[in-house]
Order: sequence, then C-alpha cells, then structure tokens
Amino acid sequence: MRNLVVVLGDQLSLSSVAFDGFDAARDRVWMAEVREESEHVPSTKMRTAIFLSAMRHFAEALTARGMPLDYLKLGAHPFASIESALADTLARHRPETVLMVEAGEWRLEQAIANVCRASGVQLALRDDLHFMASRAEFAEHAQGKRRLVMENFYRHMRMKHKVLMDDEGQPEGGQWNFDHDNRGAFGREGPGLLPAPPSFAPDAITREVLAEVELRFGDHYGSASSFDWPVTREQALVALADFVEHRLQDFGRFQDAMWADEPFLYHGLLSSSMNLKLLDPREVIDAAVARWRTGAAPIEAVEGFVRQIIGWREFMRGVYWWRMPKLLEANALKHQQDLPGWYWTGEVHMNCMRQAIGQTLRTGYAHHIQRLMVTGNFALTFGVAPAQVHAWYLSVYVDAVEWVELPNTVGMSLFADGARFVTKPYAAGGAYIRRMSNYCDGCRYQPGTRSGEGACPMTVMYWDFVARHERMLENNPRTVMMTRNLGRFSDDERAAIRRTAADMRAHPDLL
Ligand SMILES: Cc1cc2nc3c(=O)[nH]c(=O)nc-3n(C[C@H](O)[C@H](O)[C@H](O)COP(=O)(O)OP(=O)(O)OC[C@H]3O[C@@H](n4cnc5c(N)ncnc54)[C@H](O)[C@@H]3O)c2cc1C
Ligand code: SF4
Repeated sequence: MRNLVVVLGDQLSLSSVAFDGFDAARDRVWMAEVREESEHVPSTKMRTAIFLSAMRHFAEALTARGMPLDYLKLGAHPFASIESALADTLARHRPETVLMVEAGEWRLEQAIANVCRASGVQLALRDDLHFMASRAEFAEHAQGKRRLVMENFYRHMRMKHKVLMDDEGQPEGGQWNFDHDNRGAFGREGPGLLPAPPSFAPDAITREVLAEVELRFGDHYGSASSFDWPVTREQALVALADFVEHRLQDFGRFQDAMWADEPFLYHGLLSSSMNLKLLDPREVIDAAVARWRTGAAPIEAVEGFVRQIIGWREFMRGVYWWRMPKLLEANALKHQQDLPGWYWTGEVHMNCMRQAIGQTLRTGYAHHIQRLMVTGNFALTFGVAPAQVHAWYLSVYVDAVEWVELPNTVGMSLFADGARFVTKPYAAGGAYIRRMSNYCDGCRYQPGTRSGEGACPMTVMYWDFVARHERMLENNPRTVMMTRNLGRFSDDERAAIRRTAADMRAHPDLL
C-alpha cells in the first residue's frame, strides 16, 4: 500500500485535499468509530449520533465512488481509541505513508503523529483548505503580538477575500460593522410566527446509529429521540438554501434575542454542517452575500452573518492553534467551583438556565447568546473551574469540536486566558436577560433583586463577580462602568450580596 488516507470524523468532504492524487490501486481510505471519542468528555447522545451518522453516510459516498475503504464500526472491533485502532492497521498493512488533512483537534493530531512515529510510518499532513486562513497565515498575523483583536483580523479577511468590498477597496454599505443595528429584542409581543427550519427525518443509517447510541451510550446525558440534523452534503445544502431564503433577512436584528421555547429563531443552524465539513464556509458566505445583492436581505444581516464566519469562526480556529496546548489549562481568574450538576440535566429553577440547558439536551443546539450570556455567563460569575465548563460545552452540542469550542468557552466566555483575544469578560446580571428575552416572566426569582429572598442568581453572581474582580475590571475601559455602579452600593448592601452569593455557592442544587 502506498498511502493510508486517514479521514477523521469531522473531515467529511469529498473535495478534501486528502483525496488529491488518490489512486484506488495503491491507496486506501481509513475511518474508525471508537468509544473514546464519545467518552473522553461525556458526549451527549445527540452529539455522538450526529458524528456517527455523518461518518457512515460519508463512508457510503466514498464507496459509491469506488474508493477502497477500511471502515471500523463501533462494536465490530476491539479498539477503544484512534491510536490503538490505527496502530493495528499500520502493523497489518504497512503503508508507505499515512496521509491526512491536519486534524481539527490538537489531541488527535498529537496522537496520530505518535502512532505513526512508533510504527515507523511517515505521516504526511496536508493543510486544511476548508478554512480560509491557514494555520501559517494566522501565525504570521499573530506574530509578535501579545493580544489579538478579532476586528483587525476580520477586516484583513474581508479585504483579502474581497467579501462585501467595493471596487475602491471600501466596505460595502459604507461601514465595516453593523453591530449596533444587530442587538434587537422581540419586545413584549414576542417573535410571532417563526419560519420553521427544515427537518431531516432519520433514514435507515441514522436509525441504526440511534439504536446503537442507545445500546452503547444509554447512560449518557441528553436525548437523541428528536434527531433531525443534516448528515449529508445534500441535506446541508438544503439547510443552507432554507436559511438564506427564510431567516437570513432577520438574522442580524434578532441575533442576540432569546425567547422561551423557541430554540432556533433566525439563526443559521449551519455550524454542525460546516464543522463536519459538509459545507464549505465560502459557499455559505457566497449564498448570504448573493441574497443581499438581489435585495432580499439587508446589509446589516448579511454583514453580521459574514462576520461570524470569516471573522469569529476563522479567528477562533487561528487562536486555538496559537494558544494550544496552554489554552487547556488557562485559568486566569483562578476559579475552582464545581460545575453545578444540573448543567447535565436542566433540572434547575432559574428559568433562563432551564430553557438554555433544556433545549441543549433535547436538540444539541443553543444559539450564541444562550451559550455566552446564559450558561457561560453563569459559569463565569459563579466561578466554575474552566476545565469543567470546557468538558460540558464539548459534550453537549452537535457542532462541538475543540478548535472552536475551547477558545469560545475558555477564552471568550470564561475570560480564562485574560484579555489575550477578547477585550472584556462577558458578565451580566438578570437585567440583561430580562432585556433580551422573556425568560424572567416564568421564573421564581426577580431579576432586579440583588440579595436575600427571591434574589436572582444571575444578578447576585454578577455583582459578586464584579466585587471579587473589582481591581481588574476598573483597569479596563470596557468594564470600568461595572465597578462604578458597584461603588454606589452601601457597605451593607455589598455584604448582603456577598452572603447571598456564598449561600448559593454552598447549595447550587437549590437554585
Ligand atoms: C461558550 C461557547 C461555546 C461555543 N462552542 C461552539 C462549538 O463547539 N462549535 C461551534 O461551531 N461554535 C461554538 N460556539 C459559537 C457559536 O455559539 C455557534 O457557532 C453558533 O451558536 C452555532 O449556531 P448557528 O449555526 O445557528 O450560528 P449562527 O448564529 O447562524 O451564526 C453563523 C455561523 O457563524 C459561526 N459563528 C458564530 N459565532 C461564532 C463564534 N463565536 N465562534 C466561532 N464561530 C462562530 C458559526 O459557524 C455559525 O454557524 C460557542 C460559543 C460559546 C459562547
Ligand atoms: S429572574 Fe434571574 S434566574 Fe430567573 S430567568 Fe431572569 S435572569 Fe434568569
């Protein structure tokens, strides 16, 4: 055998550079389902199901193209990890080279390199052209800088790839950023009738996967019974077309809004398809920009959407490789609290958390503001150890892969890497949740109460956080207002907040 082409579970693209020069007479593709990928963090049933189903559909597509494939199915081999499975294959087939597109995850890239080294087989890694900025390009962008600013990177990407740029090299619509138009809430009347996103009913392959997930991971959290995520490129293209036609026009305006029992609102729901590589980010932004050109979607929605993809998504991937493996250990605020157990069950009285966690465990999805300003915000202000929060986020979302999850969780949400690539901690109290959602209407707590009976845990923890990190927050122009507002409280009030927060930390199960 010449090349053993290793395809990982999030590398499911037929146009991957892994297949450039593939010769069916001398090369073989290798894919493996292993328990460890569902157990190194306790992956929910929904997350495991989407990966296994997408992998099996991709295997079918490879076979249909006549590409020789070794596909190790869960339960049909004795290997617990990618390392042990690959070591066995290398010992039996002795290929000249293991060929692979660089892994998304640091851990897996290290593991595969180690196996190849130990087996005496050379490893050829190819750049992942799915991303618009290569690791080397980002390293050059980051060189010599202590801090990175997403906005600078985003503008560089817009100019380099000529996205929403006019002939004079100026941003279309006259400005780079329409963020201030993109912070709308629904108001008392709520979102009204929402366009339902497409639903992809499980086919025979997915049904088999769902049964297997129940059999092998029956004790894992969450449910996959409502599984309807896209698992093939064809389905992902339908999801993309549906989004740009029915939801993109309101994406910007309501990007930050939340509403009880409405998990999807105007979001794209395309992250799992992009992260599995069923969709290319270029085609996603091209589809969005085309809607603006025909006048079907306003510039603020389209710019806001483009920013998430060629800005935040590419930036986070660059940051991940820039900061690994240190990012795994980052804990700048020295937070050590345990993650409350109800993150895994959703059984909590706080309605905002109940909503965000409940839909997460049911659907494998929550939108960015739910992740950042509800579950993430609480973990930050409660003082949870970053490693535990990271394990949760990596376990529960259908789009969860470490290169994007870790910098978002540890860097952006928990401020655990300091101000290295975000400008401030994203902490807020109940007033923010009340402004952006109707969650507080159905809650036993009062968002405006800061201590004592009926106090809102979001609000209590927010003020307690500001008090505990007062020095750091007053030195940052973006957070100095937080400490100024705290400064207006009497000593008695501060003490009452401290006592209520200590009580809540001692009994998180009662929240
Ligand atoms: C604590 C935390 C953990 C997160 N973990 C993940 C994760 O594991 N996987 C993941 O793909 N995203 C993650 N995100 C980013 C973001 O929340 C999701 O990408 C988004 O909610 C996916 O839903 P959507 O496709 O409907 O996104 P939309 O709201 O429609 O946004 C469009 C696209 O922009 C990209 N995007 C938006 N925000 C970000 C961001 N901050 N970083 C990177 N890409 C972004 C996504 O690809 C997304 O599909 C996380 C954010 C936070 C705060
Ligand atoms: S009152 Fe507080 S805990 Fe309840 S939903 Fe509002 S912010 Fe969340």
